[in-house]
Amino acid sequence: MSGADLLARDAGLLWHPYAPLDAGALYGVLGARGACLDLDNGSGPRTVVDGMASWWSAVHGYGHPELDAAAKAQVDEFSHVMFGGLTHAPAVELAESLTRIAPAGLEHVFLADSGSISVEVALKIALQYQAAVHRPARQRFLALRGGYHGDTSAAMSVCDPVDGLHSAFPGLVAEQVFVPRPPAARLLAPADGDRLESAWEYDDAALAAWEGDLERIAAAEEGTLAGIVVEPVLQGAGGMHFYPPAALRALRRVADRWDLVLIADEIATGFGRTGRLWACDWAGVVPDLMCVGKALTGGYLTLAAVLCHERVARAVAASEHRAVLHGPTFMGNPLACRVAAASLGVLTRPDHDGGAAGWERAVTALHRGLGDALAPARALGSVRDVRVLGGVGVVELDRPVDVPAVTRAAVEAGAWVRPFRNLVYVMPPYVATGEEIARLGAAVVHAVGEVHG
Ligand SMILES: *Cc1c(COP(=O)(O)O)cnc(C)c1O
Repeated sequence: MSGADLLARDAGLLWHPYAPLDAGALYGVLGARGACLDLDNGSGPRTVVDGMASWWSAVHGYGHPELDAAAKAQVDEFSHVMFGGLTHAPAVELAESLTRIAPAGLEHVFLADSGSISVEVALKIALQYQAAVHRPARQRFLALRGGYHGDTSAAMSVCDPVDGLHSAFPGLVAEQVFVPRPPAARLLAPADGDRLESAWEYDDAALAAWEGDLERIAAAEEGTLAGIVVEPVLQGAGGMHFYPPAALRALRRVADRWDLVLIADEIATGFGRTGRLWACDWAGVVPDLMCVGKALTGGYLTLAAVLCHERVARAVAASEHRAVLHGPTFMGNPLACRVAAASLGVLTRPDHDGGAAGWERAVTALHRGLGDALAPARALGSVRDVRVLGGVGVVELDRPVDVPAVTRAAVEAGAWVRPFRNLVYVMPPYVATGEEIARLGAAVVHAVGEVHG
């Protein structure tokens, strides 16, 4: 099927994310390889650098030989079996790998079908924990404004109430407790080395004021709160906001003071994307529950997980029901688990010279490469800020982005991006070469300049 054919047959038939039925897709995908996509909108195929890594997920790029081999091998054994009463090597091996690399104490794993579902499960575990310790009145969650945690209804309830469109679903979305988001922070990166130093620049007074707000709100609501849900250090879909690791430590202190379950949503930030294996590592914070997804399978299949602290798991085990009250049909899907285990193997493999892990060197290189390539955007009249954290680069405009126009201009210049609101942002596959990163950054700067000046 050609690109033109695909677009014509898709229009009016398929919904795309947050798009009207008649908006249609902009491009057909004819193939994907390494850090690049082959796109066609009817004017002929064009190979572009994928600036989005398929929404944070394709960290090893497309068609990775080891991930391909894992998927094919598992298809030959069995693609799926139920997880109730049964187990299999892909799930066991994946859970062992995950707990080995997770922050200390996160020793138990609940496999879920998607990021949103893992958030639902984490919220349930927090409520089950509070019931187990005889505080059943604790039913609500404290969350940050500007947060994003998924699109199912409980996950939506802890998203930013305005951006998360709570007003569209008043009967479905529970009322939670919100605190302002912490002040912005910037990572200062040295010019060399394989590892990004933890050197953050932010307004101390603003952080102290924020901590005061947090403590006051938590103290006032303490009797109704079961837990805290937070994207550590980087709020993604809610506005690509980087905040000081010290704010995460303050959230940990508040959780400890009132015995709230601290849930770290690492679905976007996990697996090295911010320059630490977990964004929580920037703060040295160990959460009680940690949600992972997106890059878990290297972007091959949908899979997520909740990693649970031994202390919380013990309380749930001693409670009335003893089990986590969740169990979807495709729980622990062997195909997804096998590919995820292979992806973790690739991710954590040390380089030949025994230096930094492969992901760490790659993300450090992305931090510098994106910083250099996006810097010229600062000279544009429409640009308010340019910021980079690990493998994430953000160009913030002073106005809403004309999404179709900027997308087209970027593709013409050789890159795929998917802007939202006033943000053109990129988080390319870790395998992108220096030349590909330079091309991606130049395409973003060109597209913003051409459309918005
Ligand atoms: C994408 C995302 C989710 C939702 O994951 P899905 O797999 O899309 O359901 C939740 N939290 C964060 C931080 C995300 O970036």
